[in-house]
Amino acid sequence: MTLTVRSHREAAALKDGLLLIDGRWRPAESGATWTHHHPATAEAIGEFPVAGAADVDAAVRAARRAFDEGTWPHVRAGERVRVLRAVADLLRDNADELRGLQALDNGVPLSFGGVYAGSVDVAADTFEHHAGWVDKAGGETLPPYQGGDHLAMTLREPVGVVAAVLPWNAPFLLFAQKLAPALAAGCTVVLKPSEYASFSVLRMVELLQEAGIPDGVVNVVTGPGDPTGEALITHAQVDKVSFTGSRDVGRRIVRASADTMKRVSLELGGKSPAVVFPDSDVALAGMTTMGMVTLGLSGQACVAHSRALVHRDVYDEFLGAAQMIADSVTYGDPFDASVQSSPLINARQLERVLGYISAGTDQGARLVTGGNRPDGELAAGNFVRPALFADVDNSMAIAQEEIFGPVLSVVPFSDEDEAVRLANDTEYGLGAGLYTNDARRAFRMAKRLRAGTVGINGFQVEPHLPFGGYKQSGLGREGGRSSFEAYTELKTVLLPLSDEVI
Ligand code: NAD
Repeated sequence: MTLTVRSHREAAALKDGLLLIDGRWRPAESGATWTHHHPATAEAIGEFPVAGAADVDAAVRAARRAFDEGTWPHVRAGERVRVLRAVADLLRDNADELRGLQALDNGVPLSFGGVYAGSVDVAADTFEHHAGWVDKAGGETLPPYQGGDHLAMTLREPVGVVAAVLPWNAPFLLFAQKLAPALAAGCTVVLKPSEYASFSVLRMVELLQEAGIPDGVVNVVTGPGDPTGEALITHAQVDKVSFTGSRDVGRRIVRASADTMKRVSLELGGKSPAVVFPDSDVALAGMTTMGMVTLGLSGQACVAHSRALVHRDVYDEFLGAAQMIADSVTYGDPFDASVQSSPLINARQLERVLGYISAGTDQGARLVTGGNRPDGELAAGNFVRPALFADVDNSMAIAQEEIFGPVLSVVPFSDEDEAVRLANDTEYGLGAGLYTNDARRAFRMAKRLRAGTVGINGFQVEPHLPFGGYKQSGLGREGGRSSFEAYTELKTVLLPLSDEVI
């Protein structure tokens, strides 16, 4: 029997996608479309317009008008709070439908909705969190430094037109992490979902409209990086690009920002280490770390701890626990509640992951389990069984490069200094995990690791916690006050209080 998900699309009576420009849904001017194939079945599952330069220009101009002439940047705080809270309520009310759309988009199973970072709840909570900043966007009043008497104050103002570019792997979290602070700050937005996850994002945009976001404040252009993404990130009237995705595209955005000095926020990839000490619950560490690269997203998560640095004394115990998870993870129909993990997003990513698995073996690492493709009804999908590599040297490709798939590379270490050296020996710096029950060691190590988030015996992404990367994992933070402020400019206003010249 061959797996199929098309019936879910038919049952949901889904229409193909459209662009949203100035409050009106319409096809691309050229009529060009992108056909998305479902990663679990290879079925053609959706058609979306490919926005070309003219469509992107129309969307940016609509956002520009809504910013320069519209009400949203200046509307009273209470109104913006009301709309953002309404978005949160609508997301929660439509959570089941959204989870189904995500399964149609990227093959992520419904069960992943039970994990907070993969849930619709995290998106709703993020809108609520940022609604809380709207009426706290104050500045400071500062005394004169020298010269005459004057009043100096700072004001926080919205940064302008934001181009928000999303990846495909966690649409609920990532949509909210960009849209909620941008809208709370009073910006207008042109949003580009990933070509591999447009159904769920387009539905969330409809909910924004339902909540009362004025026309032109949020515009959507669908399509791939070329031409749609390129036209957006290079548009002269975009003030800020907020991007989550791969390091290569991040670099391209930084280069393209130079001409008009766009503000840039980047959330990029990682090669995050989990560091496991003998004084921890080693079995839990093994299961959690392997779970991070297999359950839910099949390792297609930027924060996945895809390198385990394990003390030699507990190396075998760790491998045993990790193998138990690797061998038991279930794959298949994303709509089946018992399915725990997903296929890789597309054929290119499947080839890439299989290439890294071959490279691991070729370079001398020991493949403990997995790394092959399932057959039978799963043969048409982009499935790979979780690969567990032992005896990995930290210089190998499987320990240095972001694989974005179900591959865990286990590297042995002997003491804290060696663990720190290995953990920091990477171009990335997104996250890190520490497994130890010695509190002083935990904090000592946490201070020495060059990573944006360090989890001690656990890891969580939450709306109020700054999240982002050191080194080549990104620029800036998403979550909490700092991400709200990243959508603002700081203005200084001076007022002399006497006739004295200041
Ligand atoms: P990707 O970089 O291929 O694509 C991301 C988005 O950029 C898509 O919408 C794509 O269409 C667009 N794009 C591609 N080329 C472009 C161009 N030249 N100009 C403008 N836009 C362009 O990444 P992906 O495969 O969708 O996602 C996987 C990557 O995202 C991984 O590297 C992962 O680590 C990273 N990621 C990071 C975080 C984080 O928070 N740090 C979260 C999720 C994913």
